[in-house]
Amino acid sequence: MLRKLLTQPSSRRLLSSGIPPLFSKSSLSPFSSLSSSPEPPSSESTTVEHPGTTISVDRSSLYTPPDHSHESTPETELVKHLKSIIKFRGGPISVAEYMEEVLTNPKAGFYMNRDVFGAQGDFITSPEVSQMFGEMIGVWTVCLWEQMGRPERVNLVELGPGRGTLMADLLRGTSKFKNFKESLHIHLVECSPALQKLQHQNLKCTDESSSEKKAISSLAGTPVHWHATLEEVPSGVPTLIIVHEFYDALPVHQFQKSSRGWCEKMVDVGEDSKFRFVLSPQPTPAALYLMKRCTWATPEEREKLEHVEISPKSMDLTQEMAKRIGSDGGGALIIDYGMNAIISDSLQAIRKHKFVNILDDPGSADLSAYVDFPSIKHSAEEASENVSVHGPMTQSQFLGSLGINFRVDALLQNCNDEQAESLRAGYWQLVGDGEAPFWEGPDEQTPIGMGTRYLAMAIVNKNQGIPAPFQ
Ligand code: SAH
Repeated sequence: MLRKLLTQPSSRRLLSSGIPPLFSKSSLSPFSSLSSSPEPPSSESTTVEHPGTTISVDRSSLYTPPDHSHESTPETELVKHLKSIIKFRGGPISVAEYMEEVLTNPKAGFYMNRDVFGAQGDFITSPEVSQMFGEMIGVWTVCLWEQMGRPERVNLVELGPGRGTLMADLLRGTSKFKNFKESLHIHLVECSPALQKLQHQNLKCTDESSSEKKAISSLAGTPVHWHATLEEVPSGVPTLIIVHEFYDALPVHQFQKSSRGWCEKMVDVGEDSKFRFVLSPQPTPAALYLMKRCTWATPEEREKLEHVEISPKSMDLTQEMAKRIGSDGGGALIIDYGMNAIISDSLQAIRKHKFVNILDDPGSADLSAYVDFPSIKHSAEEASENVSVHGPMTQSQFLGSLGINFRVDALLQNCNDEQAESLRAGYWQLVGDGEAPFWEGPDEQTPIGMGTRYLAMAIVNKNQGIPAPFQ
């Protein structure tokens, strides 16, 4: 039944400049206006129909934004807040600052107050597509725990756990490994109080004390703690870190080459009171990170650059992870959509499974950017000489090599027709469009999968050797 290598040419467009070139300078400001307003592509391009099911959009698609002005934005609390920062700062803010406020502003950030996942939400992620995703990550963690010499105590950290589905499936899937299960202390790093609550429910937690930040998951009898940042997670204990679709939510700075050098794209308020993009008159302090990133690029890569997206927060986070892993032992698994190359211009907004303008109604749509995997690799290697970095490899290779085909076959032995259809659809969405051995499926099941657009990378303590399945 299984067939090897069904690779389809991808219809996804490659990264392109996205932002139209500079046009005339605004009369009052030293900042150049940039036409800013990508038109969302039609919804057909973002919703995938499978026989019998509608699969919601993941966040990895990119599109060429045509140039036209965006709708006026309601004066929400967040809009007022952003405008007041720009006003009191006396000038525009970076795209990174805009992104951070839009996603994680404590009062009105996109993630802070509601469940944003699944058909009723804004986008779908792999753990929500199929239980097999969390189960396969469970296989990865048990393998690494074995390579670590089966420590009696391990901090299992997840950054940005969403609904907690990945962790719940991981715990269920690994529950037979008694010693592993008993070694675990779970630490969830989550900024959103609403999502912390959902994680608490989905992990079937009972509160251990009066603190809402500490509980026991009845799925595995494991202690669970919540933190706002990785720095808050206690160190000094071997650590496994799962980072799925987290890096893409970290703020990015955007730069554009101009006759004045590398200038930064910023967010400003125009005379019509609408948000607009402008270009800084000269290089900004964030250009230091740009310089650093460019030292990791090949001369050919550097020559072609016109636009560059850089995430200093991602570099800093990676350094923190690498230092911990280097001193405490263990490893991190990073899965996200991105490229094994410098990123030019990928920031996008998704609301209710449709692409929308980045500047429209901030806080009501997700913002995310492609992950720059080489920058993660170099940041980790720079932070600790005790770690090694492996990959990236495609999600399809990763899940295929860990045995997802055996898992799906086993699950199919014990399910009804409806469940079988949903399992197959989930399987295709996770590994489709990639190298993992696929079923011979009917033509209409041609994958529009996350198999090659999502990449997996591991950072491990060198004492652990090479992690599965990167050997
Ligand atoms: N990993 C989950 C959710 C991905 S969405 C999944 O695959 O389904 C991003 C997650 O990261 C959300 O839980 C969001 O609330 C959290 N998040 C985003 N930015 C964060 C930050 N700066 N600090 C902590 N959590 C953050």
